[in-house]
Amino acid sequence: MSGIGTKCVQEGYTPRSGEPRVLPIVQSTTFKYDTGEAMGKLFDLEAEGYFYTRLQNPTNDSVARKLAALEGGSAAILLSSGQAASFYSVFNLASAGDHVVSSAAVYGGTYNLFAVTMKRMGIDFTFVSPDATDEELSAAFRPNTKAVFGETIANPALAVLDIERFARVAHAHGVPLIVDNTFPTPINCRPFEWGADIVTHSTTKYLDGHATSVGGAIVDSGKFDWFRYADKFPGLTTPDESYHGIVYAEKFGLGGAYVTKCTAQLMRDFGSIPSPFNCFLLNLGMETLHLRMPRHVANAQAAAEFLSAHPKVAWVQYCGLPGDKYYELGKKYLPNGSSGVLSFGVKGGRAGAETFMKNLKLAAIVTHVADARTCILHPASTTHRQMSDEELIAGGVAPDMMRLSVGIEDPEDILADLAQALEKV
Ligand SMILES: *Cc1c(COP(=O)(O)O)cnc(C)c1O
Repeated sequence: MSGIGTKCVQEGYTPRSGEPRVLPIVQSTTFKYDTGEAMGKLFDLEAEGYFYTRLQNPTNDSVARKLAALEGGSAAILLSSGQAASFYSVFNLASAGDHVVSSAAVYGGTYNLFAVTMKRMGIDFTFVSPDATDEELSAAFRPNTKAVFGETIANPALAVLDIERFARVAHAHGVPLIVDNTFPTPINCRPFEWGADIVTHSTTKYLDGHATSVGGAIVDSGKFDWFRYADKFPGLTTPDESYHGIVYAEKFGLGGAYVTKCTAQLMRDFGSIPSPFNCFLLNLGMETLHLRMPRHVANAQAAAEFLSAHPKVAWVQYCGLPGDKYYELGKKYLPNGSSGVLSFGVKGGRAGAETFMKNLKLAAIVTHVADARTCILHPASTTHRQMSDEELIAGGVAPDMMRLSVGIEDPEDILADLAQALEKV
């Protein structure tokens, strides 16, 4: 299948004659075998097949195949949340005593996972600016560095990652680049085409798109040569004694090693599996991804232009606006547009933001982004409520900053709602 829209609709599940046209929900924890020997082969990874949904499920696998095809990857795994995906993506490569370089402009939950929780597990992170020069980036590496992590478009900072450059520096140090591609989705950016090695998603956002199911995903490009840096990645290149001594990169090749290890070790032991029903909903969302993303982008571009021309608006950040700090990187990596998310501040600061939000009628105040419905969040009065204005500024969150996630309603109605709320400020 060639076109990305066709892949959104059809990839991952092909019924044979007489089978359901729509992806079936295999809501079964377990699978029946005629002999214990047949099942034993599955446990040894000697034969392919299903035995327990914590490890693999046909519904989940179909949706994972679709996402792998959309990203242009070799294999994918679905998880119960984006947080689980971020954790597994790194922990599949790094253990206690190892080190990882991460962009400082990442989702707050990811930052906390890395800086606090994984640090407690003995993995050290160095955070670098997404704008770091090659020299600054190189200086962050140590002999025990195992990966570089960043977000294509950072949530909520909206910084655009220079994927090609980060990949080049990561590869010069013999490690893969992991990119969280949640905001642009594979419709607007495919990080593998720019040299990234592994992609993660919070499928909770645009891939689902209707705010129904929390979920995550990891996709492998299949291009990173684990054997070339075998001493750095013993988990992939030496026998796994918990699986009868198989060597993942040998048995499953470069295309399958990373995701098989992730399933066989991490999903087996941590168990963050999504329910088949949630994967079914995710698949429904993905069937219209190629239709929704251009509409999100067009509506967000219209909202960004409207806001930046409005006398009561102090500032707007959206890489589709000429003059935005990330306009040039956006043109390179996101030629079809970035996403539906922009941030802005009104004159009148924190109080002005509260008045503005109170008066919105169509846009809903929620802790979410990337929904078909327009929604908004004011971090200073909600998620970051306990912080003073000085603390907020030090943490990179302006007290007047509102994060607007523009939906796919009619643009005139979205702009009219923004206009009437601005009048009250
Ligand atoms: C929401 C989000 C996450 C976390 O995903 P959950 O599905 O909420 O666990 C990770 N990365 C980015 C960029 C996100 O927006």
